[in-house]
Amino acid sequence: MKTQSQPSRRQFIKQTASASALAVTPAIWNKNISFVGLKPKEKMGIALVGLGYYSSQVLAPALQETENCYLAGVVTGTPEKEKIWAEKYGIKDQDIYNYQNYDTIADNDDIDIIYVVLPNAMHAEYVIRAAKAGKHVICEKPMASSVEECEAMIKACEDNQCKLSIGYRMQFEPHTQEVMRLGQEEVFGPVKMVNAGAGYREGRADHWKLNKEMGGGAMMDMGVYALQAARYVTGEEPVAVTAQSFTTRPEIFTEVDETTMFQLEFPSGALANLHTSFGMSMNYLNVTADKGWFKLDPFSAYSGIAGESKEGPIDYPQVNQQATQMDEQAMSVMEDKSMRVPGEEGLRDMRVVEAVYKAIDSGNQEKV
Ligand code: NAD
Repeated sequence: MKTQSQPSRRQFIKQTASASALAVTPAIWNKNISFVGLKPKEKMGIALVGLGYYSSQVLAPALQETENCYLAGVVTGTPEKEKIWAEKYGIKDQDIYNYQNYDTIADNDDIDIIYVVLPNAMHAEYVIRAAKAGKHVICEKPMASSVEECEAMIKACEDNQCKLSIGYRMQFEPHTQEVMRLGQEEVFGPVKMVNAGAGYREGRADHWKLNKEMGGGAMMDMGVYALQAARYVTGEEPVAVTAQSFTTRPEIFTEVDETTMFQLEFPSGALANLHTSFGMSMNYLNVTADKGWFKLDPFSAYSGIAGESKEGPIDYPQVNQQATQMDEQAMSVMEDKSMRVPGEEGLRDMRVVEAVYKAIDSGNQEKV
């Protein structure tokens, strides 16, 4: 996995400034974008599907700070939420859907992009229905529950000429983009070892994240951040994996992994030693290269990303990650450009996730 363009601090500020300018005078217009009269839209209307924690506490507030997109609609299975969201965000009745009438969103020109923020096992169905409705799609991580589902989602979007992007917010974040550059451009020589851990203590015994059928488990939820880091720092796809899973709360973790440790081998010989957990809090990325080192701590928190290398601090502006992510995704749709984080990126992670679970079960090294 090579990055598109990894900006220096100066380039980042310049790019951000030019992105804002483009928001006012967009150049090329994607044929799938609806028009208001004869004028092309200056902002993309986003509809959030699933109004749980991430939508209500993080994405909707971020959409108050975006420049290229805005919260145009919602899709919810809970009727009481319709009024609350309509009042809080001024959403029109015609832009509020439930899971039954969701497909009629095809006829709604207010909605350009559908953002699927449901439990992981529901992503595939709602992304495919969005594509069939002719809408561009953002899908939360992990992309789905299986490689098979990811492939079906990519195909549905291709068949319907819709763009698909995964909500891997870190790839839009400047410190993260810098460690991608340091690793992939071998600034300190080839990467030899990536150590990363992402976890928190999940205390909700009855939540879908503890349910296997719903796509739960620490590896699915937080493990993908450590996996992403190993892939985006090396710019390579792992070829082999070993993995071990542990629990200290067997009465709660009856179906899914609580703590998983997994080790990856890359074609160059680089290794990754990665951890994830629903039992303990951790968030770090340490990279050892041939002639130096670099790290981020935390590396995937919502804010305060900070880092250092052999040469000194890795210091970039703090951004609203979700606003930055959605603004760029909206701009890619408006300008008909390829997505920084396309569906294929979610698929590549899911191949490794499946190999990790296989390695836990077999106790052997498994090919990816
Ligand atoms: P949540 O449980 O808080 O919200 C899930 C929503 O789905 C709720 O509104 C719930 O009512 C609805 N839902 C519909 N059918 C359901 C069913 N059968 N069972 C359970 N809920 C059902 O979850 P969340 O934390 O908001 O996570 C949603 C998605 O967002 C997940 O894919 C998660 O991985 C992702 N997420 C991403 C980030 C990030 O930083 N990118 C952070 C948090 C969550």
